[in-house]
Amino acid sequence: MGLEEYQKKRNFSKTPEPRGEERVESGNSFVIQKHKAKRLHYDFRLEIDGVLKSWAIPKGPSLDPAERRLAVQVEDHPVEYKDFEGVIPPGEYGAGTVMIWDFGTYESLSGEDLSKGLEKGEIRFRLNGKKLKGGFVLVLTRYRGNKRNWLLIKEKDEYARKGSNITEEQPDSAYSGKSMEEISRLM
Ligand code: MN
Repeated sequence: MGLEEYQKKRNFSKTPEPRGEERVESGNSFVIQKHKAKRLHYDFRLEIDGVLKSWAIPKGPSLDPAERRLAVQVEDHPVEYKDFEGVIPPGEYGAGTVMIWDFGTYESLSGEDLSKGLEKGEIRFRLNGKKLKGGFVLVLTRYRGNKRNWLLIKEKDEYARKGSNITEEQPDSAYSGKSMEEISRLM
C-alpha cells in the first residue's frame, strides 16, 4: 500500500500528525490509538514492511477469546505515527482526539514474516504491551468494496480473561496517563 493514501488524505500544514516516510527497515512495534472521531474507535497498528499496517476496531480489543472484534483495514500509516497523541483539528481528516491507549512490541507466531500472512489473510502474533499481552490472531473475513474486514481474536493463553472489558477497565493513555478529556484540552 505505502503512504500515498495516508498523505493524500491529510493537510500537514493543518494537522499535527506526522507526514512520515516509508522506512527501509522494519522494527517490531505496535500501537493502539483510541480515536474519538465521529465515532469512538481503536486504531490497531503493527510495524510491518517499513510502515504501520492499520486496522480500525469499532469496539476495541478484548482479552476474552470468545470475543471476535471487527477490524477494518485502513490506509498504512508512517512508523512515526506510533508516537502521536493529540488533537486533529476540526475540518481535517479524522478530526478529534487521539490517545496512545497501548504500545509495545510484537513477535510473529505465524512462523514467518507477518507481511506474508497479510497476503494470505491470517496473521498470528504475540503482543508485549503495557496493557495487552499474549497471543492474538487477525483473520481476513471478506472484502467489502475496497475494504478488507478482519477479526481480531485473543488466543487462549495465560493472558486470556473471560468476560474482560479492558478498554473500560483501563481507559487512559499508556503513554502519558492522560484521559481523553485531558488530551482534548491540549488543543
Ligand atoms: Mn482512526
